[in-house]
Amino acid sequence: MDNTILWSGIIGQKDAIDRICASLDAGETHHAWLFVGPRGVGKWTTAKVMAAALNCEERGCGSCGSCGKVMREIHPDVIHIEPEGNFITIDQVRQLQQTVSLKNFEGNTKVIVIDEADKFTPEAANAILKTLEEPPPAVVFILVTANIDAMLPTIISRCRQVQFSPIPAPEMATFLMERHSLSYDEAMLATKLSSGILGSAISFAVSPSKQERRKKVLAIARDIDRVDLARLSFVAEELLAEIKKGVAEVQERQKKEFAWLKEQSGQKDMPAHLKKNIEQKHKREASREEHQGFEEILTIMVSWFRDIIFSKETGRDDLLANQDRILEIKEHVDLVTGADIYRCLQIIEETKQLARFNVNMQLALETMLFKIHEVVTVKDTSYF
Ligand SMILES: [Zn+2]
Repeated sequence: MDNTILWSGIIGQKDAIDRICASLDAGETHHAWLFVGPRGVGKWTTAKVMAAALNCEERGCGSCGSCGKVMREIHPDVIHIEPEGNFITIDQVRQLQQTVSLKNFEGNTKVIVIDEADKFTPEAANAILKTLEEPPPAVVFILVTANIDAMLPTIISRCRQVQFSPIPAPEMATFLMERHSLSYDEAMLATKLSSGILGSAISFAVSPSKQERRKKVLAIARDIDRVDLARLSFVAEELLAEIKKGVAEVQERQKKEFAWLKEQSGQKDMPAHLKKNIEQKHKREASREEHQGFEEILTIMVSWFRDIIFSKETGRDDLLANQDRILEIKEHVDLVTGADIYRCLQIIEETKQLARFNVNMQLALETMLFKIHEVVTVKDTSYF
């Protein structure tokens, strides 16, 4: 394919892209695709680029109106579905079936991107299966999942499967240096902290508030053995405030985007379908930011404790994620036992699992801090 601008924004997924482009080049796009792979490696972006290619006269030029709308997630014929709460419900699928039966607004191909396609309720799964078995014309479904084992085999067998892999660290670091003008050290730090998730690496690299957030969370992890028990709820509130700050930043950006799009439309009132698309997209972005903020905080906590255990067990500095904190990490190596650190990591992991259900974040963070505090605090009684 000649048009590589959009595709070049996806890194470390050559096999997947080759496979998709071969099919697009052949001009016969399969009607259902399944993108499989860990979170944050480019499945969602690839789905958008594919949708852009399917609706662009030049097969994904990246600069026409259609490509712009698809990439901004406001194209009326590119529809994003994701779980409402914990599941994709039968109502969502029914609504989708109605949408695909309607004539396209402006594109050649309607593209339905279904994120977390492992989260259909049984009823919804059966309904979507019927649609995949008798596909409407000019509709392409892209199902996206990080958890293929939880999907119905009958749905999987209807789709052409594309595997996405974790992005190799050197490739990610090079991308950050080239596209975001980071120094080698900055790029390596962002890469190591992102656990292979490109989106987090980029947002960390370019956002001073995320770097500020990291400083705060690391300080909390470092000092938790010395914090007064009574202050822990307050500390949890501080963490929550960090998450809210991220969401507020997103909403601020959205306001500007909305105003800009309104101006672009040249009308006093934006067309209703466009307005609805933008509102849905903004809601999606805000809730994604909230979840990611929660996970990011936990990932930073993990990085601190994991660095201590790595330093303790291997003595090697190059394995540490927090390259700018090596001295502090070393100071902590002798203060806690390996077993205690593993217990802390387990507590954070359990808290991470909770995020998959719509938990009360403040309560989850508070509980986690209390448990870690209990583990790492010097147990006075052992000295008597
Ligand atoms: Zn285009």
